[in-house]
Parts: sequence; structure tokens; C-alpha cells
Amino acid sequence: MTTIAANMQAVRDRIACAAQGAGRPPSSIALIAVSKTWPAEYIAAAHACGQRAFAESYAQEAMEKMKPLAHLPLEWHFIGPLQSNKTRPIAEHFHWVHSVEREKIAARLNEARPERLPPLNVCIQVNVSGEASKSGVAPGQEPVLARAIAALPRLRLRGLMAIPEPTRDAGLQRRRFALLRELKDGLVAAGFAVDTLSMGMSDDLEAAILEGATMVRVGTAIFGERIKS
Ligand SMILES: *Cc1c(COP(=O)(O)O)cnc(C)c1O
Repeated sequence: MTTIAANMQAVRDRIACAAQGAGRPPSSIALIAVSKTWPAEYIAAAHACGQRAFAESYAQEAMEKMKPLAHLPLEWHFIGPLQSNKTRPIAEHFHWVHSVEREKIAARLNEARPERLPPLNVCIQVNVSGEASKSGVAPGQEPVLARAIAALPRLRLRGLMAIPEPTRDAGLQRRRFALLRELKDGLVAAGFAVDTLSMGMSDDLEAAILEGATMVRVGTAIFGERIKS
């Protein structure tokens, strides 16, 4: 558990350092701790170090972990693949969904979002590296989906999310993130009130922050190597 505390501090230092290099206040970048595959105890340990926002990729797994943590004021982000038959628990239990890529799924989340809760914050996932295996709309398709989401009263469109292909090429990392920033700027120019760029993970958060990330999603650097992902 002390490892989690040390890792959290190291990640915060990396974010602060990258923010300084980008001439941005570190407070303009939210750290989302990706806790998929790790038990509720690890989440509680990270919370004890001041971490509030956690991300999960599988609805069932997330629901099981949320129960023993219900007494903590945590903010939950869904970042995994969205299936039509899993939209209800996600709409009921999460504050954010980063991985919306289809109008039909957006409509289901909208329908299932309880009236007693504020609108669900959503990001559109964009496939910035054009890999056939990756989820997300193709660059250029995001305005169509943005218009559809904007018409759904129980959803609040916040911005864009991407998971570029892993690469050690820092220049390539930055080009992928720069593309997502340009697409988000395009939405702003088209009149959408979006403020979020969800991009950057354990291995590329510096490049993402240089290109304007407002949320970085970090798992391995906080909790360690996952056995499955
Ligand atoms: C697993 C995952 C992460 C975290 O990746 P790390 O390399 O462990 O930091 C971030 N975003 C998404 C969408 C993920 O599925």
C-alpha cells in the first residue's frame, strides 16, 4: 500500500513537471486513476492519498468494487467498450463515460440516466491512429455524433477521448494528441461547449499534457503492471 502512495506522488510530480514545460497550471490537468483489474482496497489506498477520480473498463467488475467503497466520495469514470446491454448500470453508477462512439449507445445512456442525478458527462472516443482494432469514430465523424449527443437532455457532452497506438516515438505521440486537440477546437468553433481532452496514459502522459490534455488516465504507473488488461 505504501507503494501506491509513492507511485501517486511520482505521477503527480510527472504531471506537474509536464505542466510546467507546457506553461500550464498543474491544476488544469485532472488525474484519473485507472483501477481496472485491481481490488477495492487499492482504490481505498489511493483515496487515502487524496485521489478522488477512478476509472474502470468493465461494468460488472466496477459495480462489485463500488459497493464496499460507497462510503467514500469517489468520482467514477467509465473508459471501456460500451455494449448495449450494459448501458443501464453505467448510466446509474458513473459520473463520466469517456468511450461513446455510437449514437445508439448515447441514446441508451440518455434513457437510463436517472432523473435524480445530474446529466452524465460524456466524451466521444476518436480513433486517432486509424487502427482497425481500435474503438472510436474516425477523425471527422465526431461533429455528427456531437450533434446527436447535444440533443440528449440527460447527457452532457464534455469533449473527446483517444487511445493512440503505443509508441516510444515522442514525435508521433504528440502528433496523435495534437490531432485530438484540433478536433476538439473544431467542435468549439462549431459552437459546442466542450472543455475536455481525455488523453495520456502511464507511458505518454507528458506528450498529452504538452498537447493540451485536461484529463490523463493512469493505471500502471499508480497500481503496477496488470496481469490481464
Ligand atoms: C487501461 C487503460 C488506461 C490506463 O493505461 P496505463 O497504461 O495502465 O496507464 C487508460 N485508458 C484506457 C481507456 C484504458 O483502458
